[in-house]
Amino acid sequence: MKRSVAAALPSGKAFWLLVLGLALFSLLAAGCGGETGAPKGGATSVAANQGVETTPLPATLTYTPTLTSTRTSTPTVTVTPTATPTATTAPTATVTPSPTATPGPTPDGVLRTVRVPILMYHYISTPPAGADVYRQDLSVAPESFAAHLDYLHAQGYTTIPLKDLLSYLATGRPELPAKPLVLTFDDGYEDNFVNAFPALKARDMMGTFFIITDFATQEREGYATWDQIDQMAAAGMEIGSHSRDHPNLAGKDLDYLVWQALGSQETIEAHTGAHPHILAYPGGTYDQLVMDVFRSANYWGAVTTQQDDLQRSDQPFELKRIRIRNTTDVPKLEALLAYQWPKE
Ligand SMILES: [Zn+2]
Repeated sequence: MKRSVAAALPSGKAFWLLVLGLALFSLLAAGCGGETGAPKGGATSVAANQGVETTPLPATLTYTPTLTSTRTSTPTVTVTPTATPTATTAPTATVTPSPTATPGPTPDGVLRTVRVPILMYHYISTPPAGADVYRQDLSVAPESFAAHLDYLHAQGYTTIPLKDLLSYLATGRPELPAKPLVLTFDDGYEDNFVNAFPALKARDMMGTFFIITDFATQEREGYATWDQIDQMAAAGMEIGSHSRDHPNLAGKDLDYLVWQALGSQETIEAHTGAHPHILAYPGGTYDQLVMDVFRSANYWGAVTTQQDDLQRSDQPFELKRIRIRNTTDVPKLEALLAYQWPKE
């Protein structure tokens, strides 16, 4: 066997040369033929090994989109700022700070009732010619108003702020004067500043003015401006909320009521520097949610349009008032103050 193989070698010299030649050729072919072979050949293997020239292009193209998509996610990050504006709505969450600011009187649980007339005025002016019945009915002429004040003073009434009445109902303090009385003015008309304010000051009396804050801010015709309201507050008049824009509050949802309660409160505080504790329901309408929201916004109480002079510690958000009309002269005022209001 060995022999035969060895003998075969010399004769195979030509064969081996051929093999060597073929091998060299195929090496050369591999060296330059790669280019042409790449497109056809497995795209993956080519890209993995020699993807420097040919394949790089498609590869880069494939990756670039990936980068672009990363950028697309950057705008998505820009959406986050949108979440910040949502946080700007967080002032609604300012609900919490406000109550903390000025805690109201903590009720001591004692049931108190007290007869304190809260008179309800609107316009203190002579209605213009052609005024409708409502305007006329709600208007008390300055002379009539002065006569009311003189009568009340002569009768020994002492005007007090609603804040004191509510604090008294809740805690028994401060002690109330012998004949306490509250003068309230709804809607914040300019004639309150022009006519009522000086008449009160001249007699060393005080009044409570319920402001429709948006109207004051808009400087609506016929309504007191913030400058006028500030002057009244600085002179010791009490300023309360009559909501932002005088809607019926009954039947409204939570967010809306929070907006009304805090909006009017913060605006009054921003202008006068005093935190308002009291509310007059616009149009006299309210429900349980209205009372709950305003209470949680650190209001101490509210006046209604229900007629009576008996105030109760368990109903601070349902204080009763006595309506003063255009036709209320001094004898009628006297009769109203002496009237025994029917019990419910
Ligand atoms: Zn009103």
